[in-house]
Amino acid sequence: MLSYRDFVRAFQELGLNGDRRVMLHTSLQAIGEVKGGPGTVVGSLLATCGAVITPAFTFRSMVTPPYGPDNNAMSYQDEVEGGSTPEVFQLDMPVDVEMGEIAETLRIHPTAKRSTHPLLSFTGVNSGEALALQSLEDPWAPVKWLADSDGDVLLIGVDHTKNVSLHYAEFLVNRKQFVRWALIEGVIVEVPHWPGCSEGFQAIVPHIQSFIQEGRLGNAKVELIPLRDLINTATGWMREDPKALLCNRDGCESCETVRRALGDTLG
Ligand SMILES: [Zn+2]
Repeated sequence: MLSYRDFVRAFQELGLNGDRRVMLHTSLQAIGEVKGGPGTVVGSLLATCGAVITPAFTFRSMVTPPYGPDNNAMSYQDEVEGGSTPEVFQLDMPVDVEMGEIAETLRIHPTAKRSTHPLLSFTGVNSGEALALQSLEDPWAPVKWLADSDGDVLLIGVDHTKNVSLHYAEFLVNRKQFVRWALIEGVIVEVPHWPGCSEGFQAIVPHIQSFIQEGRLGNAKVELIPLRDLINTATGWMREDPKALLCNRDGCESCETVRRALGDTLG
């Protein structure tokens, strides 16, 4: 069973210290047994690191209208029939269960703040400036802030399909994005720059291998990746190969729509 001390040691071995800032993606389940549970992971990281940010997404505030724009990678009617009632986004709303226990533990930490995006909010400690920059028009501003301040992506027991910073790279190269809608205080707002699918993101690995720092925590692989290098590599690759990082799953509406949009542009 892993203890607080094991986590601090592993983070220090990666070179994390009070001057470092990370975008955290992790799965408690993948790590295995942790003495003290998610609080140990969050506490040890905050003790080692200067600033920690993690996605606190709330897809359950999403509204599915009966109709909307074409090529938007969603089936309006189907989702209305099969969908659940959207919840009004509130700043103190728990993060979606699929974001993991550690994200929720960070959100409820006494010193944590959260950004106000109704679907793609981030939560973090010592990162108020980054969180305040996010808006509906600029959903990945916290990622940009981290990249500009020499931050890293920290993956613990998850792969790059969880690495949302790659959506920021897609945004930078003007890859086709989508529109969604969300419920805030009784009004429906349009949410632009909705990202596509991340199932193909693991393909980034051979391109960034030279600057990934690896470690282990229990059963989980740990990866620390300098964010600026990650973004520069991903945008460079997508400029060279506009279909880079798209997935190959049959029937992935999102990636197929992006490919179609590229076909229109590339002729
Ligand atoms: Zn896909």
